[in-house]
Amino acid sequence: MNNFEYARASDVTDAVRRIAADPAAKFIAGGTNLIDLMKENVARPSRLIDITRLPLGKVEETRDGGLRIGALVPNSDLAYHPQVEARYPLLASAILAGASQQLRNMASTGGNLLQRTRCSYFYDTATPCNKREPGSGCSAIGGFNRNHAILGASEHCIATHPSDMCVALAALEARVLATGPGGERSIAFADFHRLPGGTPQLDSNLRADEIIIAVELPPKGFERNYTYLKIRDRLSYAFALVSIAVGLELEGDTIKEARLALGGVAHKPWRDREAEGELVGAAATRERFQRAADTLLRSARGFGHNDFKIELAQRAIVRALSQAARGTPQSQADKRIR
Ligand SMILES: Cc1cc2nc3c(=O)[nH]c(=O)nc-3n(C[C@H](O)[C@H](O)[C@H](O)COP(=O)(O)OP(=O)(O)OC[C@H]3O[C@@H](n4cnc5c(N)ncnc54)[C@H](O)[C@@H]3O)c2cc1C
Ligand code: SF4
Repeated sequence: MNNFEYARASDVTDAVRRIAADPAAKFIAGGTNLIDLMKENVARPSRLIDITRLPLGKVEETRDGGLRIGALVPNSDLAYHPQVEARYPLLASAILAGASQQLRNMASTGGNLLQRTRCSYFYDTATPCNKREPGSGCSAIGGFNRNHAILGASEHCIATHPSDMCVALAALEARVLATGPGGERSIAFADFHRLPGGTPQLDSNLRADEIIIAVELPPKGFERNYTYLKIRDRLSYAFALVSIAVGLELEGDTIKEARLALGGVAHKPWRDREAEGELVGAAATRERFQRAADTLLRSARGFGHNDFKIELAQRAIVRALSQAARGTPQSQADKRIR
């Protein structure tokens, strides 16, 4: 048992002051990931700064017609929020594909962004892991790597980001609002999470002394033509092997705008503008979807046990795009797509 102190932040300024004063401290929100990591001795914070009573629990419309989601909005409340259900069903579907109802009741928006990888070696302190202990090696390369990355990995780490919600947020081009001693800043979702490179211990570009205060959604929600498709070992309570978030804007059969983000395949939600470019201006056909999938996966590489993910991702992309194009996010039948 590691001793740690506990403090409750009285407001956001107090939370920032407390985290800036102690680099070994951690914020705690729902605790659904951090407490597990502490039990496994993977996280050893000197102090827990409880942020659950901060006024960050609201969902509000922004001036430009988007939505501002407070960092403490529980995943369940967000998924069932009337504005999210009606205008951003892609986000609602992605959230409801994750974890269990009980976990979603506790899990916060900010905590979901910062949940850590599910690589089993990361949780096993008896094995080398560069993410847990920089410089110790990567047990997954040459080890059991069925859940691991096929895109953007490095020789230091092949872990994936486990969130479902973040895959939808990437496709929707959300922004993360953070504040710290240097003031408030807004981070494009694509720049929030990192690829592992030579510093896999860092999952995101959030600074150690910053707190997430909100996530902002732009007005466009792709509420007509969207899909969140999650492929996993069990139908619930399992992380994605591959997941796909799609948002399309169609004019007749022609694609005017395309968003495509993948989960379970990289250290961050994976977007590829070139693959999306294959779709824009084209007819919504299976051949075109296949071409976009080929482009997106052109640099995919397996590490043995996870080789199957390349073909799985290819098929899942085509299926997700087909579902989104015909406006039947969960249906198998395909009447409109040639
Ligand atoms: C059994 C199980 C199954 C799961 N399945 C899925 C799944 O299928 N899909 C999925 O997406 N997720 C899944 N999850 C993960 C779950 O969604 C996350 O654990 C949850 O979203 C984390 O939110 P939290 O508020 O509990 O975070 P916490 O555990 O409280 O915190 C997580 C991290 O975020 C930091 N943090 C929290 N809030 C802030 C903030 N505002 N600013 C800065 N730092 C902050 C904490 O310091 C900590 O480092 C699963 C979890 C479990 C236990
Ligand atoms: S893949 Fe990353 S998290 Fe997993 S053992 Fe290797 S370094 Fe650690």
